[in-house]
Amino acid sequence: MCPPQAKPSSLSDLGIYCHIPFCASTCDFCAFYQEAPKRSEIERFLAGMILEFDHLPANCHAQTIFWGGGTPGLLPAKDLLSLGEALLSRLSSPPLEWTVEMAPSTVKLDKLRVLRDLGVTRISMGVQSFSEPILLRLGRLHQPKQIFTAWERIQSIGFEHNNMDLIFAIPGQTEQQWLEDISQAIALGPDHISTYCLTFEEDTRLYLKLARGEIKRSEEQEVALLEAGWQALRQGGFEQYEISNFARPGGACQHNINTWRMTEWIGCGPSAASQYQRRRYQNPSDLNLWLEQLDGLAGAPPAEPIILDDKQLATDALIFGLRMNQGVNLEALAKRYPQASLADTFNDLLHDLENEGYLVRKGNRVKLSHAGRLVCDAIGASLLDASAAWAQQP
Ligand code: SF4
Repeated sequence: MCPPQAKPSSLSDLGIYCHIPFCASTCDFCAFYQEAPKRSEIERFLAGMILEFDHLPANCHAQTIFWGGGTPGLLPAKDLLSLGEALLSRLSSPPLEWTVEMAPSTVKLDKLRVLRDLGVTRISMGVQSFSEPILLRLGRLHQPKQIFTAWERIQSIGFEHNNMDLIFAIPGQTEQQWLEDISQAIALGPDHISTYCLTFEEDTRLYLKLARGEIKRSEEQEVALLEAGWQALRQGGFEQYEISNFARPGGACQHNINTWRMTEWIGCGPSAASQYQRRRYQNPSDLNLWLEQLDGLAGAPPAEPIILDDKQLATDALIFGLRMNQGVNLEALAKRYPQASLADTFNDLLHDLENEGYLVRKGNRVKLSHAGRLVCDAIGASLLDASAAWAQQP
């Protein structure tokens, strides 16, 4: 929920995230909150968003906007227009970057025209795979030919940047199939590709299949596909700038980079999360509850925000910063969060990681080695443990 009486952001890199929660069906791997796209619900959602935009900080200067979901592209063109105009009318200037996620089956020319005229700079298409059997295994609605039709339409309208999301380590997927997906994506010519390792979230159809032993997961295969994918993307002219994200020069997504750097963002829409003025909070993951909270907002602070101190922000900036290939400047981080006792908390662990070959240090900057990137989740967990252990010291 946007804070009602917040001061203008002091940072020039504020991001606005809008969560559009509608999906035509549920993909087998997805645990995100979502709603069926009934007209009555879409209208209630749009009214709520306009109310929530009214609570954005005065003279709100957002560097980036990101519309995610759900499936933002499910909204008809006229709704995309009214949502975009309502948001722009609350901002002091247009954003430098504006990304909209679209599923291939939702990419239509009238919607793309509206988005381009609003100033959207990047279409992010949820391709996932070019293989029909694999799309079926993921429970995705679209077929490969829809990806090509959607891509032609996006190209014909013209956006500054384009992303394709791909998923790998799908049970039964071979390295050859994964490399084929990557090469098809590269051949179409986007300037950004995101590759996500399939995760088995509780209560998803794929999780249940895994639990029943109908499909198998292989960590060895995951690592093999991860490395093969990185190599193929590098050879295809893409630079890895974060564990899952690759771009041609100038194609990196600033909104996500700002988030990994722990700047500020305000989330609008049900289930959207915010980090603003040292508070972290999340809207209810339920359209009705979100609307009820908006109705009763007058002067009330967002529900139970976590108040962030230097230690939490520095820990998160280190964990997420290490996911980026450029790593983290420890001196700059210590200056940004002077109360975090960064050296006392992390020096021993960082030295161990360096000695074990997971971390590389150059001057004040630390970054993960290739071996470190392969186990970055485990390294993140160790950093979190070190932060918690330091906080418990007498
Ligand atoms: S993956 Fe995307 S389109 Fe599929 S159910 Fe989840 S939010 Fe909806």
